[in-house]
Amino acid sequence: MKPKIGIFGLSGCWGEQIAILNCEDQLLDIIGAVDIVDFLGGSSVNDAESRLLVSFVEGSVANAREEAKIRQIRERSDLVVACGSCACFGGVSAMDAPFERPKVIETVYGSNGPIKSWDIGPHRPLSDFVKVDLAIPGCPMETTEFVRAVSALLNGDMPLMPTYPVCLECKMKENECLLVQRGLPCAGPVTMAGCDARCPSHNIACIGCRGPVEEANMASIEQIFGDKELPKEQIKLKLRVFAAPVLDRTEERG
Ligand code: SF4
Ligand code: SF4
Repeated sequence: MKPKIGIFGLSGCWGEQIAILNCEDQLLDIIGAVDIVDFLGGSSVNDAESRLLVSFVEGSVANAREEAKIRQIRERSDLVVACGSCACFGGVSAMDAPFERPKVIETVYGSNGPIKSWDIGPHRPLSDFVKVDLAIPGCPMETTEFVRAVSALLNGDMPLMPTYPVCLECKMKENECLLVQRGLPCAGPVTMAGCDARCPSHNIACIGCRGPVEEANMASIEQIFGDKELPKEQIKLKLRVFAAPVLDRTEERG
C-alpha cells in the first residue's frame, strides 16, 4: 500500500498548492509513489480521517478555526511540512503584526470606512501552534524543494535546507552585486538561499521572500545600507513583509 499524504491550505493565496500542481514533469511520479488522499485544492473527493505519513500545509493560522484545523492535521500526521513563507513565518498577511489590528483597519479603511472590525489575526506561523518537522519557505515555495522533500521524506530522510544567504547563490552565478556595485537595496545578505538568486539574476533586488537566513547579520547589512545612503530601516521593513512575527521575536531576544 502506498503511503498516504495530505495537502492543506490555511490563510494564504494557495500559491503552494498551485506550485505543487505545476510540478508537471514530476507529478505522475509523485502520484505513483503516494496516495494524495486529502487535497481540497486538487480533488473534490477527499478523505479527512485517514492517518497520513506527511501533511504539507500552506498558509498562516489566522483564527480559532484554523488553529483547530492545524492541530487536527498534526494529530493525524507522522510529519508536518510548512510550505511557503506564510506557513513558515506568517507571511504577507502578518505584515501588520507589530501594530494593533483596529488601528490598521482604520488606517486602511478610514474611521468611517465600511469595515470596523475583523475577526481574524494576527496571522501566525504553524510553529506557533504545532511541531513542524520541515519548513520550506518561499513566496511561493520552489517546486524543486518540494519534490526533493517528498523524495527524501518517503525514503525516511529529512532534506537539508540552505543555511546560507541568497548572496552565495548570486556569487555562484557571477552576477554583478546590485547592493555593493549599484547601491540598490538588496536583502540577499540576510535572506535564506534556495531560489538560485532568482531576482538578482534578473537585475531585481531581493525583497527577502524566503525569510531571514539563520544568524542573519542585521548590523552588518544596516551598515552597508548606511554606506550606500539607503535608509537603514528599509532592510527591516523588507524582511517584515514576509517574516514579521519571526523577526519581531528575534529582535525581542536581541
Ligand atoms: S545582488 Fe544582492 S543577492 Fe546578489 S550578491 Fe549582491 S547583495 Fe547579495
Ligand atoms: S531573490 Fe529574494 S525575493 Fe527573489 S525569490 Fe529569492 S529570496 Fe525571494
